[in-house]
Amino acid sequence: MRILLVEDDEMIGEAVADGLKGEGYAVDWVKDGNSAIIALDTTPFSLVILDLGLPGKDGLAVLKDTPVLVTTARDTVNDRIEGLDAGADDYLIKPYDLDELSARIRALLRRSAGRSDPIIRRGRLTINPSTREVLFNGES
Ligand code: CA
Repeated sequence: MRILLVEDDEMIGEAVADGLKGEGYAVDWVKDGNSAIIALDTTPFSLVILDLGLPGKDGLAVLKDTPVLVTTARDTVNDRIEGLDAGADDYLIKPYDLDELSARIRALLRRSAGRSDPIIRRGRLTINPSTREVLFNGES
């Protein structure tokens, strides 16, 4: 799974990118809206984590067909409604917990794949994305 992280804050970006890589995602990190648009035009992503407060282009201008989880320090109800109306699929207010971010990512990826069951089953193979456990014939 390839995730595009759009975040101009160095500390947050590094922590989130490292955390998600540690969970087994491929993470492309860009720091402004224009770079995000170029990345989305050239690379298929499973999900976008989008900071709304970006230099140059407002984060909302970046929203496309890829599932988008918006992160922002804007915490008024109107900003949240604006983000969801503009096409965001989920919303996290900063500062947020990395574990909560991971759980929301898994939920969004499940939804975009049309699955409500968190466990992936194919024949004798079972994959649990949240624990990253893989079973074949019931064995780890
Ligand atoms: Ca920002």
